[in-house]
Amino acid sequence: MNKYALIGAKLGHSYSSIIHNYVFNKLNIKASYELIETTDLASFVLYAKSNLKGFNVTIPYKEKILQYLDEISEEAKILKNVNTVKNIDGKLYGYNTDYAGFLGMLDYYNIDYCNKDCYILGSGGAAKTCFNVLKDKAKTVKLVSRSKTFENIISYDDLIDVNIDLLINATPVGMYPDIDSCPVNDLILNKTKEVVDLIYNPKETKFLKAKNSKHDGLIMLIIQALEADKIWENIKISKELIKEVGDFCEQYRAPL
Ligand code: NAP
Repeated sequence: MNKYALIGAKLGHSYSSIIHNYVFNKLNIKASYELIETTDLASFVLYAKSNLKGFNVTIPYKEKILQYLDEISEEAKILKNVNTVKNIDGKLYGYNTDYAGFLGMLDYYNIDYCNKDCYILGSGGAAKTCFNVLKDKAKTVKLVSRSKTFENIISYDDLIDVNIDLLINATPVGMYPDIDSCPVNDLILNKTKEVVDLIYNPKETKFLKAKNSKHDGLIMLIIQALEADKIWENIKISKELIKEVGDFCEQYRAPL
């Protein structure tokens, strides 16, 4: 039985074990996945080298894990963070599957970003991942921050003066239980053509509801998990599998 885990500081609301264990079971893979909360990354890495075939990494360890890895993938080098680690005979190889997760989500929902004006709310790890996915094909890509303003980062006030084809929420604003909050006002929403929310709980954030959009973050979460399973267990990813896992996860969403 191959053992996998997610490591982070607070994992109470994580869907990861639900998704991975469902996939292992469905594809008859003899493997298990557990959540490991820790404040001691060094000790975890020692444990992982002799007990786990791989692990996912979340806040606050996505950058801190880099020092323990023997090699990292090209995406992880660009993003400077790792969310998936594969253990081959005690050597640790790092990858970033959030990149494929966001790209896959745009594809799954048929969201066209080529030559479009795209704005990403937030300036954290997820926002930077979205930026890197969009930057080569979009006409404009900027992060939107409450406090930082330098190259490629604008303020919320600056949004008033720009054309917005695609607006992505990569902040925690609107996430359960803060479901009555929205990261931007009606003025911005009214002139925005298309929205995507990386939040997956609730299914329909106030941000999505305002635009009657179904583009929530569950599909991104599922694709990044399936990409990790592909790295670890060589699974094949299909639209049917993504949809099936998504349907299974629906029961775990917060009731509105
Ligand atoms: P993070 O590193 O903490 O960054 C969040 C960013 O949001 C911050 O940099 C901050 O930017 C902004 N922000 C934080 N609190 C805010 C507030 N009260 N009002 C306005 N802006 C605020 O987090 P992250 O890892 O990037 O994740 C961001 C969101 O994406 C979370 O909701 C997370 O659950 C979601 N996510 C989803 C997936 C998925 O697979 N669906 C994957 C990764 C993340 P400024 O300070 O510059 O304004």
